[in-house]
Amino acid sequence: MARILIVEDSQANMELFRALLSFAGHTTLAAGRALPGIEIAKTETLDLILMDIQMPGMNGIEAARILRADPRTRDIPIVALTAMAMRGDREQLLDAGFDGYIAKPIDTLRFLDEVARFTQARADDDASDGRVIPP
Ligand code: MN
Repeated sequence: MARILIVEDSQANMELFRALLSFAGHTTLAAGRALPGIEIAKTETLDLILMDIQMPGMNGIEAARILRADPRTRDIPIVALTAMAMRGDREQLLDAGFDGYIAKPIDTLRFLDEVARFTQARADDDASDGRVIPP
């Protein structure tokens, strides 16, 4: 199971995401703003970051660019949590360094599938580095 940082300013969304991820057996860390999230990412071992886009202060796109520029955090997959549905947004997110995005409001089953997909890709990468993954 994965260690997942959620960066999300909506407390209702945060509670929902944490409940779903905990139910699926993941460990969650939480930040309500981008800057504390970046600090956690620098110091904790993480398998995935779920990043809200619209937050007071620094937004998720700016935060992703900072995480991608830092050697301590540049290899952690980042998935955007976004209500944006406008044409061109996907390109903007990928350009900022996101590995993918999940549209809000989320479909709960699909949300866990997507998280599993991104954490599994990570595990496969680790395996190809020669690390042994226990069964
Ligand atoms: Mn938000």
